[in-house]
Amino acid sequence: MNNALSNIAMSNNAMSKNPTSSEPPILSAHGVMKVFGHGIHALEVLSRVDLEVYKGEKVAIVGASGSGKSTLLHLLGGLDTSNQGQITLAGVEFTKLNEEQLNTVRNQELGFIYQFHHLLPEFTALENVAMPLRIRGLSKQLALAAASSMLTKVGLASRLEHTPAMLSGGERQRVAVARALVGEPSCVLADEPTGNLDAQTADHVFNLMIDIASELGTAFVIVTHDPLRAKRCDRILRLSQGGLVDITDSLQ
Ligand code: ADP
Ligand code: MG
Repeated sequence: MNNALSNIAMSNNAMSKNPTSSEPPILSAHGVMKVFGHGIHALEVLSRVDLEVYKGEKVAIVGASGSGKSTLLHLLGGLDTSNQGQITLAGVEFTKLNEEQLNTVRNQELGFIYQFHHLLPEFTALENVAMPLRIRGLSKQLALAAASSMLTKVGLASRLEHTPAMLSGGERQRVAVARALVGEPSCVLADEPTGNLDAQTADHVFNLMIDIASELGTAFVIVTHDPLRAKRCDRILRLSQGGLVDITDSLQ
């Protein structure tokens, strides 16, 4: 299908409306279905999710509590498996990979930010941010240098040696943002990354995240409850009744 035709075919769902290049999406989901439990206890959370995320795109996902947003992000991140459908990251379909290959592609292509920072308490901010690069096999010296530079970008140059307990909530989330971006992944999956912060701090962290993403050309899939933050993204998708609907235009 050529681009014009595929745009028409995709216009009513969560596929990108305007892929500006002929490059394939960085991350895509096709016909993804997820059921928890069995028999009479079976709960179909996702029934038909289709999504394509292109380089540098910022996609917001909104939806009621319990609609399956975290479930979807887990599947997109290869942290859980779907019952049906395909998820493809950097041209590689998850089901074709063994555990080790999946870990490698995840480490190289993805960053994760959660509502709660998930930093390792016994390590400093610098060591926490260096971790994904150490796992990738970079020398300690190079990993720490890159971590220091990313922490400087998020405004924490003077907090390198602080452990998470010594930092404020907003600072911890900025460390988490630095950790997600330090390896220059093609896509970051962020699940309510500012949901645990007061409004002003949340704005600051969110804007910082979006600005660095734009500068580095990182794609973002961000679950957020806040319509104003969602509007800072290129596309806004609502997860409802197991599927994604593009609501970008209706929110403008
Ligand atoms: P959201 O992030 O949109 O609030 P979730 O993805 O966390 O929603 O959950 C969607 C639904 O799936 C909820 O009803 C939740 O109880 C259920 N669910 C999530 N994870 C599991 C699990 N591991 N086992 C069973 N049910 C689950
Ligand atoms: Mg959730």
